[in-house]
Amino acid sequence: MAAPQRGDLSASERKILQLIATGDVQEAAQLLASKEVRVNCLDEYGMTPLMHAAYKGKADICRLLLQHGADVNCNQHEYGYTALMFAGLSGKTDITSMMLDAGAETEMVNSVGRTAAQMAAFVGQHDCVTVITNFFSRAKLEYYTKPQGLEKEPRLPPRLAGPLHKVIMTTNLNPVKIVLLVKEHPVLVDMTALEKCYQVMDMLCEQCVKQEDINEVLAMKMHYISCVLQKCLAFLHKQDDNLDALVKSLLKGRDSDGFPQYQEKFIRDCIRKFPYCEATLLQQLVRSIAPVEIGNEPTAFSVLNQAVTGQMAIVDADYCATCGERGAQKRCSLCKAVTYCSVTCQKLHWFTHKKMCRSLQEQDADLEKDAPKFKELKDDESNLVMETANFLQQLCLRAEEQVAAAGGCPAQLLAGPSTSAQGPSCTQD
Ligand SMILES: [Zn+2]
Ligand SMILES: [Zn+2]
Repeated sequence: MAAPQRGDLSASERKILQLIATGDVQEAAQLLASKEVRVNCLDEYGMTPLMHAAYKGKADICRLLLQHGADVNCNQHEYGYTALMFAGLSGKTDITSMMLDAGAETEMVNSVGRTAAQMAAFVGQHDCVTVITNFFSRAKLEYYTKPQGLEKEPRLPPRLAGPLHKVIMTTNLNPVKIVLLVKEHPVLVDMTALEKCYQVMDMLCEQCVKQEDINEVLAMKMHYISCVLQKCLAFLHKQDDNLDALVKSLLKGRDSDGFPQYQEKFIRDCIRKFPYCEATLLQQLVRSIAPVEIGNEPTAFSVLNQAVTGQMAIVDADYCATCGERGAQKRCSLCKAVTYCSVTCQKLHWFTHKKMCRSLQEQDADLEKDAPKFKELKDDESNLVMETANFLQQLCLRAEEQVAAAGGCPAQLLAGPSTSAQGPSCTQD
């Protein structure tokens, strides 16, 4: 059969485009089953039914079209847009993930040289950007579930691939969240399993750095997850059989202000241990974090999270105080100053929050007395977040100059308690 031509649509094919617009899944399913529709037919602009469905945010119809063999990488569109680009423009993260799972190429560019992630960023669909830039195909992980070369057994037992892939795909890098993800999969809460998993993560990290189109962001994420898995392993070793003690350590606030110091130090340590000194991203992170005293903003977590997921801290969004999930709706009923995504998370946090809850209640009362001041405080806060974000962006822009200028390993800056380091220096050991 000849390849579909632009605008060469049968009556049934025109009909299916209408059904996509109205979102009528059942009728679309019947029409597709009747074989009167070529699933990759093109309208006058070169758009396939899948592109239409992705752009209009119709997840069920996208799924249906993919089941009928829709080509996720078709790029006959007049400006070279792909279904993934349309999904990103629509702002639907579920459809964006679906396109990626179906094998959408992330590096394809449109007629003005933009990738799907860049297009989504351009229209402010940052959640879709995060989904695209954090995507890691299950197939790449499954490579390790088969013995390679002279290996007698695979590096990763096949039963661990699914759970580990779930952990890799997280777009919430809060260490508590990652430990909770590990706990959700009992096969991972095991010393041998964790050892295999973190070793595979280290190999994936190396691959991201050594491959031709080097991906430092993904390398950092792989390394960071490896560090969290190693931490889980260390706690299992200390008889913390269900990792509760680890979660507590990560959440525990210091006496003076409730700041989770152990967590901050842990994340700084992870960054410092990134094995590729010459990475621009490492230098950026270190420069942002090293001058900050522990307990001040930005936290190591916010800097790392912004660099890896591309998500900026949104002042108005409610993040869970325990696991960092966005859209947390439940508030501590006493102080109303902290939010949680679930009762479980609130319970996990109480042992340390209770020490701060009363003083937060008092602060709350003070603020109510003086409402305008509260508003000012919030503005200041949002300015600070924007400034930090701008600063990080500028660092990104200057990244290439930094590579040229940097002589060695900036990670040393994070090593000591003092911030008086003169500049990047690397010890050879
Ligand atoms: Zn939570
Ligand atoms: Zn409270």
